[in-house]
Amino acid sequence: MSISPGSVTSQPHIVLFPSAGMGHLTPFLRLASLLLSHDCKLTLITTKPTVSVAECTHISSFLSKHPEINHIEFHVPPMQHSGSISDDPFFIQFEATSRSAHQIHPLLASLTPPVSAIFADLVVANGANKVAVDLGVRNYIVSTTSLKFLSLMAYLPVLTTSDAAKLVDGATEIEIPGLTPLPISSIPPPFFNADHGFTATLVSNAKALPFCNGILMNTFESFEPETLLAINNKRALSNLPSILPIGPLETYGLNMNGQTRYLPWLNDQPAESVVFLSFGSRTAMSKDQIKELSDGLERSGYRFLWVLKTKKVDKDEKEDLGEILSSSFLERTKNRGMVIKEWVNQQDILGNAAIGGFVSHCGWNSVMEAAGNGVPVLAWPQHGDQRTNAEVLEKAGLGIWDATWGWGGQRLVKQDEIQRKISELMTDEKLKSKAKSVGDEAKKATGNGGTSKNTILETIESLKQNV
Ligand code: UDP
Ligand code: UDP
Ligand code: UDP
Repeated sequence: MSISPGSVTSQPHIVLFPSAGMGHLTPFLRLASLLLSHDCKLTLITTKPTVSVAECTHISSFLSKHPEINHIEFHVPPMQHSGSISDDPFFIQFEATSRSAHQIHPLLASLTPPVSAIFADLVVANGANKVAVDLGVRNYIVSTTSLKFLSLMAYLPVLTTSDAAKLVDGATEIEIPGLTPLPISSIPPPFFNADHGFTATLVSNAKALPFCNGILMNTFESFEPETLLAINNKRALSNLPSILPIGPLETYGLNMNGQTRYLPWLNDQPAESVVFLSFGSRTAMSKDQIKELSDGLERSGYRFLWVLKTKKVDKDEKEDLGEILSSSFLERTKNRGMVIKEWVNQQDILGNAAIGGFVSHCGWNSVMEAAGNGVPVLAWPQHGDQRTNAEVLEKAGLGIWDATWGWGGQRLVKQDEIQRKISELMTDEKLKSKAKSVGDEAKKATGNGGTSKNTILETIESLKQNV
């Protein structure tokens, strides 16, 4: 069958450019399946080397499921050692990618059909924007965090100027004009140092935000309504382009490799009886904290499924469970709990009827997955955007947290504190029903006629009009 020229040219060609870490890759792959289902041509840029094994396996299984995607492996030149003051391999990769992002130009200039738009991570906003301008194509940012934290990052170029000296010790809040102030205790400590690699990378990329065509967010209107209205009505951060909430991003049948032996066990447990604990893909917890957590969990008396990680990067995980948790703990809890050290399909778990509550570090993907499934969260934020995310989810009615637990590793959170909070999570009926209504709102947003669905459809349509 011959295809008319009109139908060929109306297919927009979108380049997706995620950054390092599963927290950044996952929303891009979810968005990729969504775009494919709406007849877009895709090029996926992935950086080489990847930091974690999880990224590598997810990229290859995604691409083998979608051979129609054009794949570009972008070799990121290693950082000059002196350039970074962080020893976190993910941040070193962020910095390296950010610095070399503009080098994707020749890789994109020769693509057919020609590129219509670049959808890039905030970490590469600056480079992606330059390339988009050179190619004369649109440029959208795909944000991997909450709108509240994005606002902070967008305002960071102002906050870090010495004139403002707004990030001073002693202040209790940070004022972003037009928005509810942010408590200082939730500002990531590196933000107080403008020379920190993490901060410097964000500042240089945040400066590019006003020049892009829109910011696609894995959130939904009713989850962060105040911040969204303030920005989109130009009452705050008026230099930003439109914020386009398109979440919670769904898996669209994308089921990744992973350990699944917990599923039959979960299927045997009573409804809403199991606490699910996971701290994301790159949060390492100290042995002492793991011990307090295991004691608190045991004393709470609840059934549990615990995904345990002791290293930031998965390939460094060498110890067996028995070397981390005492054999007596594993023996005593074997009939009511399961501890897993491998990759799991968290979306499947959160969608299982047995799950009654989620103890989470509040990586934004995890928050959106809990929201989408209406599962109440006990937030235990550790780093970066996570304390801000915890505030957002508490305000939205999805969860609870104790701000005195501090940043990850700041102090040892004791077993009795953990036990109390887990019991609160599992027994608070009001929280449960609020979380369920958050889940209903999330489904409404992504369903036909919903706000998130309309927003992505309108974005795709406007790209099609421009092809
Ligand atoms: N995830 C998963 N299985 C694991 C660990 C993580 O499916 O064993 C997923 C999780 O569902 C989420 C992503 O990996 O989609 C992690 O992103 P998030 O923003 O929650 O946290 P980060 O890992 O970036 O700290
Ligand atoms: N951080 C994060 N996720 C991590 C590790 C660190 O968000 O998995 C944040 C955290 O706020 C930390 C900052 O990034 O303070 C810098 O981390 P790093 O350990 O590299 O910095 P340092 O403590 O050496 O300044
Ligand atoms: N981020 C960034 N540049 C960096 C580090 C982080 O733009 O060098 C952004 C990123 O978009 C992320 C947010 O800051 O969503 C929070 O940072 P964190 O490292 O905690 O991200 P996570 O992987 O937990 O989402």
